[in-house]
Amino acid sequence: MNILSNPIENLKNTSPRTISLFKKIGIKTFQDLIEYFPYKYRDFSKIKPLSQVNFGDEITLIGRVEEKKQEVSKRGLTIQLVRISDGKDSFWLLWFNQKYILYSLKKGDKISAFGKVKPYFMQKMLFVEEYEVLKNNKPIHTGRIVPFYPEKKGLSSKVIREKIHYVFSLKPELPEFLPEEIIRFNQLLSQKEAYENIHFPKSLDLAKKAKERIAFNELFLLQLSSKLIRKNWERSLAAPKVVVDRKVREELKNLVNSLPFKLTNAQNRALYEIISDLTSGKPMNRFLHGDVGAGKTVVAALASFVLFLNGYQTLFMAPTEILANQHYQTFLEIFKDKPVKIGLQTGSKKIIKEGKIKNYDIIIGTHALLNEKISFDNVGLVIIDEQQRFGVLQRLMLRQKGKTPHFLTTTATPIPRTAALVLYGELSISLLDEMPKGKKPVKTYLVPPEKRASAYNWIKEKIEKEGYQVFIVCPLIEESDKETMKNVKAATAEYEKLKEVFKPIPVGLLHGKMPAKKKQEVIQAFKSGEIKILVSTPVIEVGIDVKTANIIVIETAERYGLSQLHQLRGRVGRGQVQGYCLIFSETNKKETLDRLRFFASTSDGFKLSEYDLKLRGPGEIFGTRQHGFVNVKVASLLDYKLIEKTNKAAEYFAANKKLSEYPELEKKVQRIQEKIVSID
Ligand code: ADP
Ligand code: MG
Repeated sequence: MNILSNPIENLKNTSPRTISLFKKIGIKTFQDLIEYFPYKYRDFSKIKPLSQVNFGDEITLIGRVEEKKQEVSKRGLTIQLVRISDGKDSFWLLWFNQKYILYSLKKGDKISAFGKVKPYFMQKMLFVEEYEVLKNNKPIHTGRIVPFYPEKKGLSSKVIREKIHYVFSLKPELPEFLPEEIIRFNQLLSQKEAYENIHFPKSLDLAKKAKERIAFNELFLLQLSSKLIRKNWERSLAAPKVVVDRKVREELKNLVNSLPFKLTNAQNRALYEIISDLTSGKPMNRFLHGDVGAGKTVVAALASFVLFLNGYQTLFMAPTEILANQHYQTFLEIFKDKPVKIGLQTGSKKIIKEGKIKNYDIIIGTHALLNEKISFDNVGLVIIDEQQRFGVLQRLMLRQKGKTPHFLTTTATPIPRTAALVLYGELSISLLDEMPKGKKPVKTYLVPPEKRASAYNWIKEKIEKEGYQVFIVCPLIEESDKETMKNVKAATAEYEKLKEVFKPIPVGLLHGKMPAKKKQEVIQAFKSGEIKILVSTPVIEVGIDVKTANIIVIETAERYGLSQLHQLRGRVGRGQVQGYCLIFSETNKKETLDRLRFFASTSDGFKLSEYDLKLRGPGEIFGTRQHGFVNVKVASLLDYKLIEKTNKAAEYFAANKKLSEYPELEKKVQRIQEKIVSID
C-alpha cells in the first residue's frame, strides 16, 4: 500500500483527540496531511557553539541539561532557568511562566532551543521561543528553517509539524506526474522535491521554488481538466448548423434598431464572436463575462434570435424563479414586434411536462429545467445564467450523445479576468468591458449608526418629493445561501418596524418562503408603485429589475462579500435616475470598515472581486467552499504570469500528449472532472 493512503488514525504516538481534530479540519489521510501547507517560515537554522554566543543573536543552541531552577520576578512572574552544556561550555536558557519546563526536562536530556540572546541580571541568556528534546534525532522545531501552519480548532502548528515530519520519515513515494519537457521548460522542481521543500525547506529559496511547483500543479490540473473536457466535446459532438446570411443579418439589424438604446461596442463585439461560433460548425461554448448592468441579457436575446431565424429553439436557464420571470418579461419586451413565441416554465406552470415545448421558440426557466425530460432535437442554443455556480453546463453536456446545442454561459457577478481563465477553462470568453452610455454609477454611502434616523428621513423625502422607490435588504443572519427561517423571521420583524418608521408610506415584504404566487403579487405591486418600500430577505440578491427603485439599503453589510454587495447594489440605478446605496454595519473592526469604504468608493465590479479574492480567498467569492472544486491552496487566482504559463502548458499537453500515457496525471484529472460534473 502506498504510505500516503494511510488513514490519519495510523499516525504513531498520536492521541485520539488530535486525530479527531485532524479529521475536523478535513485531514483524513497521510496524503491530506502533507497537503496541509505552511503559511510562513522562520529561519531557526543558525546554530552556534555555546562559547561563541553574542548578545542579540537569534540562534539555536544544543546541549544537555545540567541544572534547573526557578526564580520569581519583582512583578510576580515565575522564571524558569535551565543550564545546558556541550561538554566544554555551558549556557543558561530562560523561560517565563512555564513551570512545567522544570518537571518535563530531566537532567542529562539533550535539548535544542531557539531564541534570542539577551541580558538577564547582566548575564547572557537565551530567551527561548521554541525548544525540543532530542532523542537520536535531528531537530524538527528548531535548528532549521521551520514551517508554520494555520492553527485551526486548537491544533497547534507544532503538532502539525511533528506529524508531517513523521510522514516524511516514512519516505513516501511522490512520483512525478508531469511530462519531463513541461518540467524542464518551466524550470520546476520535481514533485518529490517540491513536497519536501514546501514543508522542510533546505533554504528559503527552495521553499519559494516548492511553492511555485505546487501552485503550478493546482492551476495546470484545473486548466488541463477543462481543456480536455472541451476537446472531447468538440471531437465527439456535432452542433446545429446555423447560417447567418444577408437575410438573417437584415432581420438581426432590424431587431437591434428597434431597441430603445444603441448597443455598446463591447456588446457588438460579443455578438460578433457569438455569431462566428454559431456558424463555425463546432459547438459553441462561450462565456459572456461582464460587470453588473453591462447588458448581458440583450446579447443573449439577440443570440437566441439568430437561432430562431434558423428554425431552432433556445432554452434559457436562470438560477432563481424570480430571475427567470424577469428574463421572461425582458424577452417579451425585446421581441414585442417579432413573431417569436416565448414560454416561461415555473414551479407551478410546467409547459415542458405538458408537452407544449413545441409551441415555443424560446423557453425560459430555472436550472430545474434540467430535471425535465427535454428532447433536444430542435434546441439549438442553451443559455445558462450562472449564479456563482459551476457544473450546470457540464452535467447537461454529459447527457448529450452525438449531438449538442450551442452553449452560452453568462455570469451574474464579474470575477477577476485571471480567475475566469482558470475556472472557465473549457469556454471561450467574451468580455463586456464597457458600461452602457449614460449610466450613472450608484452613489454609495457607509452610514454610521448614529445617522440612521436622518437617513430614514432623507429616504422619506426622496419618496415623497421625487417619487423614488426603495429596497431594504434585511440583516443576513445565517451565512448560507439557502433562506433559513431565522432570516425570514428577522425580515418580518424588520418589516413591522419599518412600517411604523415610514408611516403612511406603503411598505411590502418579500421572502423566499412565500408561495410563488404571493411573491409575484408583491413584486407586481412594487413595480406598479403601489408599494414604495420593499423589505426583503438577503436572498433576493439577484433579479428584480424595477426601474423606479433607485435606493437600496443593505443591513449588516459586513456579512457579505464585496461581489455580493455589488450584485445587490446593481438592483438600483438601472434607469436614467441617480441611484443610491446606503450600507449599514454593526462592526467597528477597522479592516471590515476599510473593506466597506472601499466598496463605497468603487463602482467597478472587477476591482471589487479582485479585492475579495485577495482578502478572503476563492471560497468566499465563488461560494465554492461547499464543493471544493476550486482546490487552490497555494496558487493565486490573480497571478497572471503563472496562469499564462500553466495555460500554455495545459494547451501543449492537450495538443501533443495522450493522457492515458500518464497514469498518475490521468488519476488527478479524472478526480477534478468528477468534481466539475457533480456540483450542484
Ligand atoms: P447584466 O449584464 O447585469 O445582466 P442587464 O442585461 O440586466 O445587465 O442590463 C441592465 C440594464 O441595462 C437593462 O435595463 C438593459 O435594458 C440596459 N441596457 C442594456 N444594454 C444597454 C445599452 N447598450 N445601452 C443602454 N442600456 C442598456
Ligand atoms: Mg443579468
